[in-house]
Order: sequence, then C-alpha cells, then structure tokens
Amino acid sequence: MSDNYSFFGDVEKSFDKAAKFTKWTAGILEQIKACNAVYRMRFPIKRDDGSIEVMEAYRVQHSQHKMPCKGGIRFAAEVNQDEVMALAALMTYKCAIVNVPFGGGKGGIKINPRNYSPYELEKITRRYTAELIRKNFIGPGTDVPAPDYGTGEREMAWILDTYSAMHPGEIDAAGCVTGKPVSQGGVRGRREATGLGVFFGLREVCNMTDIMNKYGLPVGVEGKKVVVQGLGNVGYHSAKFFQDAGALIVALSEYEGAIHSDKGLDIEAVFEHRKKTGSILNFPGATNFEKNTDALEMECDILIPAALENVINEENAPRVKAKIIGEAANGPLTPEADEVFVKKGILVVPDMFLNAGGVTVSYFEWLKNLSHVRYGRMEKRFNENMNAHIVSQMEALSGKKMNEKEKEYIVHGADEVDLVYSGLEETMITATHEVMNEWKNNPEIPDMRTAAYVVAINKVATSYAELGIFP
Ligand code: NAD
Repeated sequence: MSDNYSFFGDVEKSFDKAAKFTKWTAGILEQIKACNAVYRMRFPIKRDDGSIEVMEAYRVQHSQHKMPCKGGIRFAAEVNQDEVMALAALMTYKCAIVNVPFGGGKGGIKINPRNYSPYELEKITRRYTAELIRKNFIGPGTDVPAPDYGTGEREMAWILDTYSAMHPGEIDAAGCVTGKPVSQGGVRGRREATGLGVFFGLREVCNMTDIMNKYGLPVGVEGKKVVVQGLGNVGYHSAKFFQDAGALIVALSEYEGAIHSDKGLDIEAVFEHRKKTGSILNFPGATNFEKNTDALEMECDILIPAALENVINEENAPRVKAKIIGEAANGPLTPEADEVFVKKGILVVPDMFLNAGGVTVSYFEWLKNLSHVRYGRMEKRFNENMNAHIVSQMEALSGKKMNEKEKEYIVHGADEVDLVYSGLEETMITATHEVMNEWKNNPEIPDMRTAAYVVAINKVATSYAELGIFP
C-alpha cells in the first residue's frame, strides 16, 4: 500500500462520481461528505509485565442526520484516522440504503489483538469506553458501537458493563452497544447477520435472469463456484450460507495462506482444522496455494473478499477472473479496481449495502433493548394456537389429515431468530432491488457501486433538505 493511499479519499472519489447523477446543490453534497466529528484519543494502559503502553484510538461520527450514530469498533494494527473516517462515512451511506435510521460512525484502536492477553484487552476496551463516555461519544441515543474486525461479543459485553457502571439506573443502557452476547441483551441472529446478509444480497442478484444473462451465468446460487477471503465472522458465515444453499466453496484464503479444491471445501471442517492446527493450510483433500492472494485470482463465479480494505487494487485487478465480486468486507476494492472491472465486464456488488446485514440486525437489537422484551415473546404462543386451530378446521372441513411435517411448519409460531432472519431477508431483498433499479433506470451510471451511492445520497440529502440547517 503506498504511503499516500487514502481510504477516505477513495470513498470521496466514489461519492463524487455518483453525485453527478443527483440533483443536489454543492452545499448539501459537501455537508453529506464531511465527517462531522473526529475524536482522536491517547490513553495509557498497564501491561501484564508492569510496563505502560500508550494507546492510539479513534471514534468518528460522520453524520447526525439520523440519531444515534452507529458503527463498529475495530482492533487492528493498521487503524488510523483516515481509515476510521472512511468506515464511518460508509456507515452513513449503508444505513441510508437499508433504511436503518442511524447516522454513520466508526471506532478503532491501533493494536494487534493477538499481541495482548484477554485481561489487557479488557482493560483497553474499558478505558476506551470511559474515554467515549467522557466526551459523550457513546449512549443509546447518541452513538452506538458494534463489533468489527478484531472485536466480537466479548468486547461488546465489556463496553456495556463499563457504560452501565458509569450510568447507574439508566434504564436503556443496554442500547449503548450492539453485537452483545444474547445473555446480555444481544439478539439471536446478530452473530451471523453480516454473512447472512451477504448471502441474501448475492442470492437476489443471482436470481435476476437479465443480470445473469448479461454476465453469462445460470440463474440461482446452486452449483456456483465461490472463493472467500477471510475466515472471520463475516467470511465464515458468508461461506457457510453459500455452502448450505448448494454452492461450492472452491477456495478459502486466510492471512497465513490459502487452499483450493475443485470438489468444494467443507467450511466447518476447514474451520475445525484451523482450530486444531492453527492454519488452514494442509487441509486434507485440498491443495495449498503458494501465496494467500492467489485465491483472489482464481477462476470462479463469485469472489467474496471478507477480510480488509484495499486488497484488490489496480495492481492485481487485471488478474481477477471471477464473474461476480461480492464485497463482504468494507472497501476491499479501490476505485481503480472498479474501473478495471467495468471494462472487463465483472459485476461488483458493493459493500455499501451488501454487508449491511450486521447493522440491520444491530438495529433490531437496539429496538429490542429499548423495548425491553424479546422478539416473539408476546405473540409466539398466540400464533401457534391460532394456526393449530386453522389447521384443525381445514382438516375437519376437508376430511383429510395434513402431512405432519407440513403441519408443524404451518403451526410453528416465530421465535426471535425467525423474526430476525425474516427482517434481514426483507431488508436485503428490498435494498438489492432498490440499488439495481437505480442502475437499470439510468444507463449512464457505470456500475452498481455508483448506483448504491446515488440511492444513499438521495436519502441523506432529503433528510438535510427537510430538516434545514441549524440555527
Ligand atoms: P474478523 O476479525 O472476524 O475476521 C477477519 C478475518 O480476515 C480474520 O480471520 C483474519 O485472519 C482474516 N485476514 C486478515 N488479513 C487477511 C488477508 N490478507 N488474507 C486473508 N485473510 C485475512 O472480522 P470481521 O468482523 O469478519 O470483518 C471483516 C470485514 O467485514 C471488515 O472489513 C469489516 O469492516 C467488515 N464488516 C464486518 C461486520 C461485522 O458485523 N463483523 C459488518 C460489516 C462489515
């Protein structure tokens, strides 16, 4: 990566490219693009060996046109202000596309979590939370973090505990962070939400006959050859849902290396193998690639980068042979790579809505926290009784018995996870069509990413136009 690479600059470039296809004034566009608040902090922590280390951390609120701000917290050695600003901006656009009423935010701590003990990570997370509280950068109505690269449920529980300890009696405290363990106010389905959303979005694209014809592919997901980069939360679940739907995972790439098999890799077995040996390499029945980036250049139908940004750029884009690229990570392609793919006739399904499953289900979690009741708790049994009654009436009137399996399916009242999956599926299908229609209705828009930005800009700009400017 060159020294003057700017991820935020890339986001701005994509924004400007799309702004030309909208009717908004320069002033409104400038306001949408700007990061409203950037909080850069330094704080010390005492390491297990007694030494003191000074942390570098950030929280950015890109837009407050809807409140609270929302966005994950990343733990990575590469974290820097530019990156956090870019990710916060993407969150604004992402939330707008999937109609989640939040502004964009993002946080990051510049550490490689592998180099710290769990106790040290807990201290870092708690101190970071305290710093956010000090400046009013966290709270159910102001700014709500979530997991991102290098963080998960464990860190979210520490954030909640710290916030609650410093806000005794705040009844909505659980809504200060999402992606929590279910036992701490999390929602069922949040863990796999981003990967499932990636699957729902790509499945919808694969079910569009005109689009599949355009890219020379058969309709549907079944039998499609899929390559996934990154076997973390997003990559693992994306791969798993594709495998469950009958696709073949022909290659997987992790930071230690990459493997491939034309017969398809069993994602669960690879995951177990990695847990046991510490690496995905030498998985029985698979072949190791020489370099982990080789997987990105393999012949396949769908390539899913699910690790980090800027992994496909002007250098390697010309060698990519996938027919569809589904951006599960944030910003895995640079604008230069986009241009290569438009010329090569490769369809890029952009991060801005494709990986919005996480924030969508985070929204459901936040709503659950504010309502203080589990989804389905009030109506599940009522619906089951009602459905059982309807089925028994149908059986009585027809004089025939319904197949037991069908009966069970019809009678079953929705559990929390059923409702979350259903809400996520509806959100991803609607967003995919909205973006695709914007693209189809304006032949001058060069790619799906630009169409997604147009959709996002129109929604955010409408908010600004309606709200006016304070004071
Ligand atoms: P994660 O930490 O759970 O997993 C990332 C994985 O990528 C890790 O296993 C890591 O070892 C691997 N990796 C790192 N560098 C790699 C490389 N060069 N080649 C191959 N693999 C590599 O993180 P995550 O939560 O899955 O996030 C991944 C991406 O998805 C990030 O861009 C993040 O911003 C984005 N995202 C995450 C969520 C979410 O809900 N977690 C939501 C939206 C977007």
